[in-house]
Amino acid sequence: MKINSIRGVKDILPGEIEKWRWVETVAHEIFSRYGFKEIRPPIFENSALFARSIGETTDIVEKEMYTFTDRGGEQITLRPEGTASVVRAYIEHKMHYPPSVVKLYYIGPMFRYERPQAGRFRQFYQIGVEAMGSANPAIDAEVMAMLLEFFKDLGLSGLQLQLNSLGCQDCRPAYRETLKAAIRHHLGDLCANCNQRYERNPLRVLDCKVERDREIARGLPKTKDHLCQDCQTHFEEVQTLLRTAGTEFSLNPLLVRGLDYYTRTTFEVVSSSLGAQNAVCGGGRYDSLVEEFEGPPTPCFGFALGLERLILSLPPDKTENIGSPPDVYLVSLGVETQRESFRIVQELRASGLFVERDYEENPVSLKSQMRKANAKACRFALILGENELKSGKLVLKNMANGEQTEVLSSDLAREIQNRLGK
Ligand code: ATP
Ligand code: MG
Repeated sequence: MKINSIRGVKDILPGEIEKWRWVETVAHEIFSRYGFKEIRPPIFENSALFARSIGETTDIVEKEMYTFTDRGGEQITLRPEGTASVVRAYIEHKMHYPPSVVKLYYIGPMFRYERPQAGRFRQFYQIGVEAMGSANPAIDAEVMAMLLEFFKDLGLSGLQLQLNSLGCQDCRPAYRETLKAAIRHHLGDLCANCNQRYERNPLRVLDCKVERDREIARGLPKTKDHLCQDCQTHFEEVQTLLRTAGTEFSLNPLLVRGLDYYTRTTFEVVSSSLGAQNAVCGGGRYDSLVEEFEGPPTPCFGFALGLERLILSLPPDKTENIGSPPDVYLVSLGVETQRESFRIVQELRASGLFVERDYEENPVSLKSQMRKANAKACRFALILGENELKSGKLVLKNMANGEQTEVLSSDLAREIQNRLGK
C-alpha cells in the first residue's frame, strides 16, 4: 500500500533544512538582543480561543480552521496563528505580574485549510513576536526595526515595509459607519465577497484583491483621515521613530488585516521577488485582546512572518555553503579491520569531529571508498588496512592536495584537529 502526504503540506528535506536552521539561529540571536524570550505553546487549543480572538467573520475562522471534536467531546482547533495562544498563556500564567513589558517569540507550524499554491500551504511555519504591556510607540518602532534588521542579516533585499493605522475602539466605530455609508453606493459594482463584507466586516473591502474592487477602494474613506487625536499622535510618533532608526517604510492607507484584533499601527512586509503571495510578514498593535480574555489592560504589538516565503526569498549566495562537509572519511579495508575502524570512528566523533564511513556489509575496494569520500567532499580520508592494523599507524590523506602522512592511532584526534585548525 502506498500512501502519500496530504495535499498542501510538505516535507522539509535535508538540503533545505539547513536554510531553515540558519534562519532560526539568526532569529534567536537577534530577538534575544532585543530582550525577547522564546515560548512554545501547544499546537492545538480550544476552538473558542481562535474564534473569539481572530474574529467570527474572518476568512480564517469562517473557512480555514482545522477543527475537530476529540474523543472527550471537546471542540479542538489546530492553531491557524500564534497570537491567540500567546495571549492565553500570558493570562493563564499571570505573566503580567510583576507589571513590566513581556517580550515573547515563537517558531512553529500553523494550519489553515486554504487552496494550496506557490507560497500557500495548509501546514506552514511562522516566526512570531509579541511585545506585551506597553502602548509606547517606541515598542512599535523597535519591533519593526528589529524585524528589518533580521531581514538585513539574512541578506534579503527588495522588501517593503507598508504601514497604516486602524484606529482604536474610540474612533473605529464611527469610521466603520462612514465607510459603510460610502460602500453602500458601490454595492452593485463590488464582488459578491465584498457585498458580504459590507455588513459583517466592511474594513476588509479596502484590501479586496479583485482589480475592479481595488479601484473603488481607492476612492473610499481611509482610516488615516478618521483617527482620534490619540491615535493620530501615536501614528505620527511611530513614523518619526522609524525615521530615527533609519527604517524605510511607505504608508498604505488600504492596508487592513485579516484578523479582527488589530488596533492602531498595522503593517505588512511585502517582497518584490515573490509572485502573487508576496506578503512575508504581517503584524501590528492589538491593544484590547488581553482584556477580551479577562486579563488586565495590556496593550500589545506583534508580528508573524511566514518562513516558507521568507526562505523562498533568500539570496542563493547566502545559502549555498550552509551545512559543512565531513572532516574525515574512514576507509576500512578487509574484514579484520572492521572492529578497529568502528572504534576509531566513535572515538573521533566523541572528540568533536564529523566522521563518515562506508556501511557495505562486505568490505569494498579502496577506490570505491575514496570515491564516496570525494562525493561527500570530505576534508581528509583516513585509511585503515591490515598493515596499518598491525603497525598501529593509519594513513591520513588530505583530499584537497593529495598529501599523505602516517599517524599513530593514539594521536589521530589531536592530529586531525590540528590540521583542521580546530
Ligand atoms: P495572505 O495575505 O498571504 O493570506 P495573511 O494575511 O493570511 O496572508 P497572516 O495571517 O498575517 O497572513 O500571517 C503572516 C504571514 O504568514 C503571511 O505574511 C505569510 O507570509 C504567512 N502565511 C499566511 N498564510 C500562509 C499559508 N497558507 N502558507 C504559507 N504562508 C502563509
Ligand atoms: Mg490569508
